[in-house]
Amino acid sequence: MPTAVTREHFDTLIVGAGISGVGAAYHLQTQCPEQRFVVLEGLDSFGGTWHMHRYPGIRSDSDLHTFGYRFKPWIGAPIASAEEILKYMGEVISDNQLAQHIRYQHRVETADWSSEDQQWILKGTRQDTGAAVEFSASFLWMCQGYYEHAKGYTPAWPGMENFRGQIVHPQTWPKDLDYKNKQVVVIGSGATAATVVPAIAAETSHTTVLQRSPTYFIPGRNENELAEQLRALDIDETWVHEITRRQILKNQAEFTARAFAEPEVVKAELLGAVRAFLGPDYDIDKHFTPDYRPWRQRIAFVPDGDIFQGIRSGKASMETAEIDHFTEHGILLKSGKELPADIVITATGFNLSVLGGIHFSVDGTPIDFADTVTYRGMMFTGVPNMVWIFGYFRASWTLRVDIIGDFVCRLLKYMAANHLKSVVPVLRPEDADMPLLPWIDPENFNPGYLMRSMHLMPKRGDKPEWQHTQDYWLEKDELPKIDLADSAFAYKQ
Ligand SMILES: Cc1cc2nc3c(=O)[nH]c(=O)nc-3n(C[C@H](O)[C@H](O)[C@H](O)COP(=O)(O)OP(=O)(O)OC[C@H]3O[C@@H](n4cnc5c(N)ncnc54)[C@H](O)[C@@H]3O)c2cc1C
Repeated sequence: MPTAVTREHFDTLIVGAGISGVGAAYHLQTQCPEQRFVVLEGLDSFGGTWHMHRYPGIRSDSDLHTFGYRFKPWIGAPIASAEEILKYMGEVISDNQLAQHIRYQHRVETADWSSEDQQWILKGTRQDTGAAVEFSASFLWMCQGYYEHAKGYTPAWPGMENFRGQIVHPQTWPKDLDYKNKQVVVIGSGATAATVVPAIAAETSHTTVLQRSPTYFIPGRNENELAEQLRALDIDETWVHEITRRQILKNQAEFTARAFAEPEVVKAELLGAVRAFLGPDYDIDKHFTPDYRPWRQRIAFVPDGDIFQGIRSGKASMETAEIDHFTEHGILLKSGKELPADIVITATGFNLSVLGGIHFSVDGTPIDFADTVTYRGMMFTGVPNMVWIFGYFRASWTLRVDIIGDFVCRLLKYMAANHLKSVVPVLRPEDADMPLLPWIDPENFNPGYLMRSMHLMPKRGDKPEWQHTQDYWLEKDELPKIDLADSAFAYKQ
């Protein structure tokens, strides 16, 4: 006879202990101390993205003044390694006694909303013991990230099965991968390739970056001049953090606005910065000039231009071409050229995961998130008492963790004060004829992992309430002003 599973109840249940889940726990504890909550995390430690990715050189591509939380000063260099980010998150957990609320090795598999009991019932498995676990919670705060953690995205190229070398995805980097004195081909030219190449190139025989089309980069020094000036004046780190964040956010707002208003000027500036590293004779047109306007995909910051230094030293080189097929000893390009390889690293991105691979249902009826409409990219029509943190593409993810934290805590307090047990977003009469569109406008932002899986994502409307605007500068003012009595929210007692 299987043993009965004891169900534990909490007011709020947070799924995931990455930068979002730890931030959510902090905000809940600080702003809603009356809430009993638990964080369920499938892995054996906190950090999410920064705990799982182990490839050489792994680092942030945004600055940590804004990728760090607003409530804990970042005191290192702006671009940080995964290890530094984990240390910072570990301090947030210990400074605020959050560890007692986190259950590691708890993978959630199903979440069913019971309208009768006005609560979620979550079932899962302990990864260390295999034991079944069960929880109920009035409110569900999804902080599970946005991509499949177990496996990265590798396109199927012809002939891969014949290749005698190793094919490695950075998301599942083997601990003992020996790339010393080997011929390495890195497929892809996004932030991951820009990170891994400078970290390994000097030790390889040669590293080739093979890209189908070029990407924008912003080379710059890994320091913040203003932060250093303030520190030299003995200004308190809390102030340094806040002032530096404001400066960075102002600069980013101006840069983003310019990227839309005068894309050609911004493009010329970005390419000029690359040219400064690679010299006038390098074929920037071929290898570093994208055919899309700046900011339609994330622009990777390259500290001290390290990938360009690798190219200049001759240890790394660029190849902009299409793959025809893999051979036994490398990759044959459509141009007829063959790239010899002992190791091929597929820095080709993620598989998008809508809500952590959890099977959601309401009263036993499965939810297909593609049939829902998003309320500001954080709640969904037909899905009660649930908020998801999906951060920003053009600004640091964590900025949204903090402002959604404020929103959730305000909502929970409002519901408690008005004796309301559940809330669900509903389209208002004035939204009846609103066109329903894909989650994000490809004209605005179009990375591969989103384009491949857009059909799985919730729909957006054409009003700010019904979309993830991806605009931090707008949301930081609008989210605190959301009228919780608006008819877009249907409450039950
Ligand atoms: C290599 C890399 C570099 C990046 N650099 C930046 C950057 O510089 N700036 C930036 O803004 N963004 C960056 N991003 C995006 C980044 O993922 C986010 O900024 C942020 O780390 C996401 O945090 P999160 O907590 O929302 O999700 P994650 O970090 O993905 O964490 C989610 C957690 O939820 C857990 N989980 C998921 N499903 C379940 C389940 N069913 N049951 C239990 N637990 C579950 C996972 O195990 C994981 O620990 C980067 C992404 C990658 C992959």
